[in-house]
Amino acid sequence: MSSRGNLFIVSAPSGAGKSSLISALLKDQPSDMQVSVSHTTRQPRPGEVNGQHYHFVTVDQFKALIAENAFFEWAEVFGNYYGTSRTVIEQTLANGIDVFLDIDWQGGEQVKALMPEAIGVFILPPSKQELARRLTGRGQDSQEVIDSRMAQAVSEMSHYQQYDFVIVNDDFDQALADLQAIIRSQRLTCASQSYTHNDMLVDLLAD
Ligand code: GDP
Ligand code: ADP
Ligand code: 5GP
Repeated sequence: MSSRGNLFIVSAPSGAGKSSLISALLKDQPSDMQVSVSHTTRQPRPGEVNGQHYHFVTVDQFKALIAENAFFEWAEVFGNYYGTSRTVIEQTLANGIDVFLDIDWQGGEQVKALMPEAIGVFILPPSKQELARRLTGRGQDSQEVIDSRMAQAVSEMSHYQQYDFVIVNDDFDQALADLQAIIRSQRLTCASQSYTHNDMLVDLLAD
């Protein structure tokens, strides 16, 4: 029986739509789910807000945080460091809130090793052509960055089988419904329902 929130690892090649799906999921600010805000050493994109999209830090600051054991996981992705804060995750889960990690496969692997009950969700684009279109259409990265992310896409996607669930983000609304179905199913597990309905079950099972 667990009182903890569920931890979801969401990975995808850059441009597949994971940030859009997670923000659509959290649009109405549900009190029972939260996205983890990572630390990164990459430069903010136009419109990205420090503390909201990422905690933007220098390489020296990032290395100091590694030395303090502040990260639950961290990885180098596309030449920058990215990491997930340990205390925020632990406190949020302990409060019974589901947490979403938008992290790469290397981070996903570390989280699964530390917390095997974490639920992995891999988002695939419907085709390479569409992935390239989305990366370009997002209009936030230079051509050089887009080329490097496309070059990494196959290697990122080759890890999809390490995840518990796979969503093909072709039609956005369908992909969002799929993600919501996964979350809902995890709240209906025996362990989860035993906790949520503890009083009712005590009553039902009393002689
Ligand atoms: P995106 O591909 O458009 O989401 O681009 P980002 O620059 O936001 O993310 C770059 C990569 O870093 C993606 O593969 C993310 O999943 C990964 N990433 C972001 N935050 C973290 C983190 O905290 N830990 C790890 N391991 N990877 C992260
Ligand atoms: P990621 O976080 O995986 O890098 P984004 O969420 O930033 O990807 O999405 C990349 C681009 O693709 C964005 O411009 C987004 O609006 C667009 N996009 C996401 N999902 C779809 C979809 N199902 N159909 C068409 N465009 C999409
Ligand atoms: P972007 O630079 O486009 O925001 O993110 C690029 C990639 O880094 C994405 O695949 C994203 O999921 C990943 N990423 C973002 N934050 C983290 C993190 O904290 N840890 C790991 N491992 N990957 C992250």
